[in-house]
Amino acid sequence: MPGVYISYPFCSQKCSFCNFASGVSPAEVIARYSRHLLNEIHRHTWQWPPETLYFGGGTPSLMEPGLLRAITASVPHENLAEVTLECAPGTLTAARLALWSECGINRVSLGVQSFVTPELRQTGRRHTADIVAREVAMLRAHGIANINIDLIAGLPGQTLASWDESLDWIERLSPPHVSIYIFEIDEDSRLGKEALLGGIRYGAARLPSDDLTADLYLRAVARLAQAGIPRYEISNFARPGMESRHNLKYWLLEPYIGFGLDAHSFDGRLRWSNPDTFDDYFAARTADPIETRPEEERFFVGLRLSRGIEPTCAEWLKFAQPIERWRSLGMLEREGNRLRLSERGILVSNEIFQEFVNA
Ligand code: SF4
Repeated sequence: MPGVYISYPFCSQKCSFCNFASGVSPAEVIARYSRHLLNEIHRHTWQWPPETLYFGGGTPSLMEPGLLRAITASVPHENLAEVTLECAPGTLTAARLALWSECGINRVSLGVQSFVTPELRQTGRRHTADIVAREVAMLRAHGIANINIDLIAGLPGQTLASWDESLDWIERLSPPHVSIYIFEIDEDSRLGKEALLGGIRYGAARLPSDDLTADLYLRAVARLAQAGIPRYEISNFARPGMESRHNLKYWLLEPYIGFGLDAHSFDGRLRWSNPDTFDDYFAARTADPIETRPEEERFFVGLRLSRGIEPTCAEWLKFAQPIERWRSLGMLEREGNRLRLSERGILVSNEIFQEFVNA
């Protein structure tokens, strides 16, 4: 069953590591965006009642009550099973919690990133571990127990000891879902750009080595599994039955529709995305949809899942060479008819996917 994604690209600060189309904007831009977003949703013809609704960003926990109410009232809700809102720690209030319950929010994703104060300050974040603990308790007291916590491996100054501190907090708070992202050095974040230029701003000179970052990731995989939160996708970990129903749609190639800046959509055959600048979005300059080959995509996105995929006979034949090569290097594992990335294979997954794309 399909999902809906709503993009709210506004934040109270721009974090140094962030490479999303999001940031701080004047109130007039937020007001104009809100009108365009609602219009876009109202213009949509619903061919199916969605199963999931996901508010991402940006920081949708900052959304005006009127806008949140209007959006949730406009999306067909008879089949909605999971309604997620991304929340920046430090923005939770009793009034917001009451609003979210009223709007049917039943899952909250907290962008914690780290529980270690110097690591957070370096990125521009203002919360502390105690604030996160208080907000997790507030969510649970309001009946929102389906909580995700995001962490980033590879932040400046991070060490195995400081990473263990963050993982200790995860154990203490015991959320049903955790996402671990590896910081990627690219031009799209201020920290990434500074590192590429060899500079020292944003702590760029203290970024962990690739080897250390890989160790941080593997440590998280082991400790989360021990805590009963095993990995089910490269970056996602959940207690059994608490996997994100919305995000699973991306990897199982189920349809979803996205509204707002830089939102992506997929109807099972065609993919399209909204503009990633406000000017283009306000002018409704949308690129033409792209035809996909779901049978091929299924192979690549399915390998992101821990359960792997069951290639068809045609796929075993078509990809025989790369499969054999990566298997002999210990990066792919075969069990019966299933194929999946090994623990080490996950760390070079982009390289592996690229080889399949070129096959
Ligand atoms: S990391 Fe989150 S809060 Fe920070 S700028 Fe990016 S979207 Fe906003």
